[in-house]
Amino acid sequence: MAKRNTQSGPQTTAIHAGEAPDPTTGASAPAIHMSSTFISDAPAGFSAHDLGPDSPYLYARWSNPSVDMLERKIAAMEGVEACLCTASGMAAASAIFFTFLSAGDHVIVSDVSYAGVTELARETLPRLGIEVSMVDLSDLVALANALRPNTKLIHTETPVNPIGRLTDLAAVARLAHGAGALLSCDATFASPLGQNAAELGVDLIMHSVTKYIGGHGDAVGGAVAGSAELIKQMRLEASIHHGGILSPFNAWLIARGAATLPLRMKAHQSGAQAVAEWLETRSSVTRVIYPGLPSHPQYQLAQRQMTNTSGMIAFQVGNASQGEATAQAMIDKLKVIHYAVSLGHHRSLIFWMETAGLMDSSFKLTSAQLDSYRAFAGDGIFRLSVGLEDADDLIADLGQVL
Ligand SMILES: *Cc1c(COP(=O)(O)O)cnc(C)c1O
Repeated sequence: MAKRNTQSGPQTTAIHAGEAPDPTTGASAPAIHMSSTFISDAPAGFSAHDLGPDSPYLYARWSNPSVDMLERKIAAMEGVEACLCTASGMAAASAIFFTFLSAGDHVIVSDVSYAGVTELARETLPRLGIEVSMVDLSDLVALANALRPNTKLIHTETPVNPIGRLTDLAAVARLAHGAGALLSCDATFASPLGQNAAELGVDLIMHSVTKYIGGHGDAVGGAVAGSAELIKQMRLEASIHHGGILSPFNAWLIARGAATLPLRMKAHQSGAQAVAEWLETRSSVTRVIYPGLPSHPQYQLAQRQMTNTSGMIAFQVGNASQGEATAQAMIDKLKVIHYAVSLGHHRSLIFWMETAGLMDSSFKLTSAQLDSYRAFAGDGIFRLSVGLEDADDLIADLGQVL
């Protein structure tokens, strides 16, 4: 497994990057700067177009010290120059699409993506004159065939929510860059510890920081990390013009969570490995998808690409009616694991996703794409986000229903 090339180790970076003791008070912990405006020391303002990393703080929609701290921390964890934080993960996805795409451009989006991203790509972008192709990005031939002269962006997600299918980032980056397109990757499931996305060629690394980076289920936010030049363009469009900024209080909470991310990801990985191996022994469980299991259809890729296999498991319990009955039993009986959406928190969360319902509401896949989806999800999957509780307690909880 590859090691990230930064000056400090990952845990030191997570704690110290973006932070410094307060020069006036000596406070060791960072302050929350709940200020929307900042006093200028010169009579002339500056244009948003001139904004640089050393520009003074002016107004919180441009930048704010608490948000800046989180942005520097995430950029350091991803080993890139810069980061833009946004009000939510969806605001981060919108920021990518609306900064880099214009009418007449073509974008390729993974046919299975976070449902909100799929709906945005399918329903909103075409309304604005943007050509959209939804492609199975685990199929490099399908991707090569989908490229057009006006392809500006490829957006993927790995492992993909909710089925845990992987994208070979180095291979997709070669195809994207060969075609003159940018590659963005929603790395929410992997977290910054899960893969060296920048080294693999990803230009824009996106996270819902509501999930692993914040890690405690108490604040919604998003982030996109990349080169200073790309992030500067995004700050102008997405923050200054579209206005979807992260609040300083949420930035502070999320940075506090981020400080323990490498330690937490080790625990998520070992807990998920234990739970996934136990699930494979249950006769009621018909299929388990976890990148740390040799039974994952892309196990070789997982071994090559992933530096932490994270805490997200997908599993099946037979057909849709068996899935629904099991979901109801979970709602009635689970004591430790919460039956709820979202993921990446210290608390374990589980939610059932029926294939037919998701196809109608979000994915609307072609029959070949549906075959690929069903190879992972069957009639429906349980998405289990393994938290930081003791694996034995999670197994005992699940053992009541599986
Ligand atoms: C949750 C999630 C999002 C959306 O993030 P929000 O913070 O809820 O807006 C995007 N992508 C993935 C993979 C997610 O899990």
